[in-house]
Amino acid sequence: MGEEKEKWSKFCPRCGKKTDEFFDCLCRECFKKEIKLIKAQKLEISVSKCVNCGAYFKGKERISVEEAVVDSVRKEIRKRYGYNCVVEAKELEKELKADENRAVVFVNVKVAIKGVEIEERGEVEVIFKKETCERCSMIAGGYYEGIVQIRAENRIPMDEELVMAEEIAYSVLGEADFISKERKLKEGLDIYVSSMECGRRISRGIVKKLGGIFSESRKVYGMKDGRNVYRVSFSVRLPGFEEGAMVEMGDKMISVEKVRGGKGIECVDMKTGEHMFLRKKETKKAKRIYKNHEISRD
Ligand SMILES: [Zn+2]
Ligand SMILES: [Zn+2]
Repeated sequence: MGEEKEKWSKFCPRCGKKTDEFFDCLCRECFKKEIKLIKAQKLEISVSKCVNCGAYFKGKERISVEEAVVDSVRKEIRKRYGYNCVVEAKELEKELKADENRAVVFVNVKVAIKGVEIEERGEVEVIFKKETCERCSMIAGGYYEGIVQIRAENRIPMDEELVMAEEIAYSVLGEADFISKERKLKEGLDIYVSSMECGRRISRGIVKKLGGIFSESRKVYGMKDGRNVYRVSFSVRLPGFEEGAMVEMGDKMISVEKVRGGKGIECVDMKTGEHMFLRKKETKKAKRIYKNHEISRD
């Protein structure tokens, strides 16, 4: 038996080694030598870099330079060695070139082709195309899907409240969100935001910190891919003068005793103890004072 097997053994046509295991008609070693993952072909890819915010992107999507490299390497290898080969990339190192328009990324790839594992370290040259990302062009074009309208009940919001509302708005923005415009009005502040979700998050944040309530209303403003596209208004109402609230009126500090709906407020001068009545028109000049615990609550 042993002799017969010996007799039927095959040879690798390239190196002459005796083997029964063939990969594309070659022995394992010769097959491995045939494969060139990255080294031999000087892979070069391009990634867009936003001239405005510096973000890297491909098409509409934000992507890191390393992710772009792995994507391209994977595609290249699969194009050459079949779509079912497993490509694993690791130990990525990015080296920016002095002219800032290019980088070199070193990458270690591990690929299984026809069951043979091959590991190789290669480098990919990345060229940065200077462009404007989608988000920056949308901001520049004044794009918005929602307006957060900050007002106060029966009074005009204080500047401090609006500054705080603005701070809250910027602090809850997600990576894809943006504020494209802010409009200061006599009766408050309008903040134009990139998405409905973002507008809702801002409104919720403001109410949580400054009190009051908010409501939403939406209007169709166009069609996109056969569907209605909406713009949403968020009406944020900061609290008016409820009983016990402290109010600043000129150089007087007053405490609210009773709110007479639609008419005005009854109050007491905190220094002199004098009772007074502020008519609705007058209350517009009054500033609600937040006690410490009212605004530090998270
Ligand atoms: Zn061989
Ligand atoms: Zn940008």
